Amino acid sequence: MLASKMYCPTLREIPAGAEVVSHQYMLKAGMIRKNSSGVYTLLPMGWRVVKKIEAIIREEMENAGAQELMMPIVQPAEIWRESGRWDVYGEEMFKLKDRHGNEYCLAPTHEELITTLVRNELRSYKQLPVNLYQIQNKYRDEIRPRFGLMRGREFIMEDGYSFDADEEGLKKNYELMYNAYVRVFDRCGLDYRPVQADSGQIGGSRTHEFMALAASGEADVVHCTKCDFAANVEKVEPHALEIADEEMAEMALIETRDCKTIEDLHKLMNMPAEKTLKSVAFNVDGKLVLCVVRGDHEVNDVAVQKFVGGMNIEAADEELLRANGLVPGYMSPIGSEKRDKEKFIIIVDKTAMQVKNGVTGANKDGYHYKNVNPVRDFKNVRIETIRLINADDVCPVCGAPIKIVQGIEVGQVFELGTKYSKALGATFLDKNGKAQPFVMGCYGIGVTRTMAAAIEQSHDENGIIWPVSIAPYEVDIVPINEDAAMMAIAGEIYARLRGANIDTMLDDRKERAGVKFNDADLIGYPLRITIGKKTLQEGTIEIKVRKTGQVVTVLKEETVSQCQALLSKLR
Ligand code: ATP
Ligand code: MG
Repeated sequence: MLASKMYCPTLREIPAGAEVVSHQYMLKAGMIRKNSSGVYTLLPMGWRVVKKIEAIIREEMENAGAQELMMPIVQPAEIWRESGRWDVYGEEMFKLKDRHGNEYCLAPTHEELITTLVRNELRSYKQLPVNLYQIQNKYRDEIRPRFGLMRGREFIMEDGYSFDADEEGLKKNYELMYNAYVRVFDRCGLDYRPVQADSGQIGGSRTHEFMALAASGEADVVHCTKCDFAANVEKVEPHALEIADEEMAEMALIETRDCKTIEDLHKLMNMPAEKTLKSVAFNVDGKLVLCVVRGDHEVNDVAVQKFVGGMNIEAADEELLRANGLVPGYMSPIGSEKRDKEKFIIIVDKTAMQVKNGVTGANKDGYHYKNVNPVRDFKNVRIETIRLINADDVCPVCGAPIKIVQGIEVGQVFELGTKYSKALGATFLDKNGKAQPFVMGCYGIGVTRTMAAAIEQSHDENGIIWPVSIAPYEVDIVPINEDAAMMAIAGEIYARLRGANIDTMLDDRKERAGVKFNDADLIGYPLRITIGKKTLQEGTIEIKVRKTGQVVTVLKEETVSQCQALLSKLR
């Protein structure tokens, strides 16, 4: 490609509002442009990266025996009602009507469509297993679209679905897909970890998330420093902690005006956080769920939802709290003994339950109770582990110290089982001629998110440092001026590199060398070739490796072999 012809509008400044590096550099390097919140155009330079990631995915999917197809994005409400997810998805689903008033959605995922597809076509166990995938846009009206391509409302996903006759078949396909995803992310040059995860509202049993490790990641990943245990923190049930026993003192009301946060309370009472009891309230499908953990712990809302069931979990608003006699800022289970337990559930974390002579809200403006002993003072409550694991905990498998790091979820694999085949009546005839629901798995990679994750992991103050496998171009040739002889050599080298199947850019723009060098660093080509005076005088060129800064001077005749050698070292 000739830079003079490329539609790649680089910017001098980072546009305001771009918070993370990948978003900043993709805008600055002319790879994406925002259209509306969470919706972007992929410009030619960015689109090349997407295409390279997709090519890797396609190769690995085909190697694993999956077949590509293309399903509709616009889907009738009926199939979503049949599976029960029309309402579950709620606000996150883009819904629309046609001219006849029929309801549709823009697909956030494709379990429903693919299951209704095969239910009319796959009839016998002899036709199984079947493993299908596609790569296309997905639509999710995220509450907080942000970080550019990382959390978009329109984004590109590879999504795959497997159909088996039994659990054993599913296990095989799951492992095939898991391993294919390992190869995809290896080949994309990511530093990642597959971690155990929670299947959430999609349902099913075993699931792993592929987490690209990066400080900007929105997920917390816990891993052991000794064994190979690694999981999304939401999935982990931390060990119960031992708390020293104490004689229970008499509970008493204390005035704690202007003391609405747990930190204020610690200061006022001069008391360690583990002696306080924090109450967090959720609205789960209209039910009030009050959760109590120790002041130094956080509530795991995924665990809460697992215990309560229900589809939507969100913070309870003040109206719901007051209607149930709870006073924001001063909440606790005390005083709610006579509630309707169907509509108002109280769950106390196991460790919080052991607190002795602690402090908690009195459900009265400006007051707390001291000497609270949940074992004695909390009535009619459910006791479960609902706290998140934290860095002070130990590995739930081997007891060694753990670490918690941030990750970007770039992919996930699920053993779905029969949830969708049963709901949608998708069956086949088994060996005995009996109708059985398909045993399904589903698998997804965030293609555009993977692109963003690669930048989060690989950049410096000058710009992106692409892994060779997904770089828009592998080599950028920069003649330092428009001298005819220099341009002729540049053109020759360009032709030879392309002849050797190396993706090459020739920066033939009428710009100063400095501008071209800056753009080369910003866009992040793995290798940059400089053609300058020495090329004319001595017949040599310079190759600069973006990642290491290393510069090698070689005879221009050796350009191709030297580039091949350097690129293969970088792979
Ligand atoms: P998240 O928890 O980050 O919202 P998810 O678990 O809902 O993601 P999945 O349904 O597992 O997402 O979708 C498969 C993959 O699609 C994810 O692993 C992620 O890489 C990608 N993905 C999901 N939502 C988005 C989004 N809003 N923007 C970009 N990529 C996304
Ligand atoms: Mg996921």
